[in-house]
Amino acid sequence: MAPSRSPSPESLPASGKPWYAEGLRFACTQCGACCNGAGTVRVSDEEIGALARLLDLSDEQLRAMYTRRLRGGEVSLRESRAKACVFWDPERGCRVYAARPRQCRTWPFWRAVVHSRERWEEEARDCPGMNQGPLHDADTIAATAAADGTSGELP
Ligand code: SF4
Ligand code: SF4
Repeated sequence: MAPSRSPSPESLPASGKPWYAEGLRFACTQCGACCNGAGTVRVSDEEIGALARLLDLSDEQLRAMYTRRLRGGEVSLRESRAKACVFWDPERGCRVYAARPRQCRTWPFWRAVVHSRERWEEEARDCPGMNQGPLHDADTIAATAAADGTSGELP
């Protein structure tokens, strides 16, 4: 994904309709590109609890083994030496798919991605699932972006 950049307020033009008013297509191909070089994957206390239950660990064990603290106090999943997400398995894919954090579930409908067509198309160069598959309507996209689990910037 592209380096951090704060969204500028251009997703709602004077018409009041977002640029994606006709919806956007997306279906994950499970290529794994976004889990390799995953960068920051924010996790809430609730998500840490869900991950811990899935892996049969205590919350504290999960925190110690698989997370790191960000500047400002938030918590992210760790990365492997190869810079992949700590839960990425090259053979099996995401090892915690059923309990993956919100940030993973809401991609690519992040505020920082859908704020402009240019940004969307830039991210689509690295994510083959974007611009193909089923159409997601504008209301769903806006609601997803409003609670995307990110900081509002690309990690
Ligand atoms: S890069 Fe896109 S298509 Fe590939 S795994 Fe990630 S979300 Fe799915
Ligand atoms: S938790 Fe799973 S889906 Fe999310 S970045 Fe890690 S491997 Fe990918």
